[in-house]
Amino acid sequence: MPGAKKEVLGRLEANLKALPGITPLLRERGLEGALEALMEGLDFQRTDLSALGYPQNEIPARFRCRCTREKALEALVFFTPEEREEMIVKDGGAEVVCHWCGEVYRFSPEEIRTLVA
Ligand SMILES: [Zn+2]
Repeated sequence: MPGAKKEVLGRLEANLKALPGITPLLRERGLEGALEALMEGLDFQRTDLSALGYPQNEIPARFRCRCTREKALEALVFFTPEEREEMIVKDGGAEVVCHWCGEVYRFSPEEIRTLVA
């Protein structure tokens, strides 16, 4: 961080070391709470979020995957038509599991055969 004072960096480092890890911290204290923990002793002012429409004064941390059924089906174009035909014969369709969120998409032989490439 250019321009950041040595003491500030030292403090940030110490704060980071004292933290239990980002996942338990977020679970325990939420996004703003985690930020507060990180900025402890650094004159960090929490914005009044209730004025922005968050009555709990915090923004809920959320993870939303952008995968869709269409995108999952498109992933099957990386297989050759022969390989796709094999999935249909052997497994009666195909299953695509999203690497990010774990969502499982099952495709019927008809859906798989809509892929031309
Ligand atoms: Zn996903």
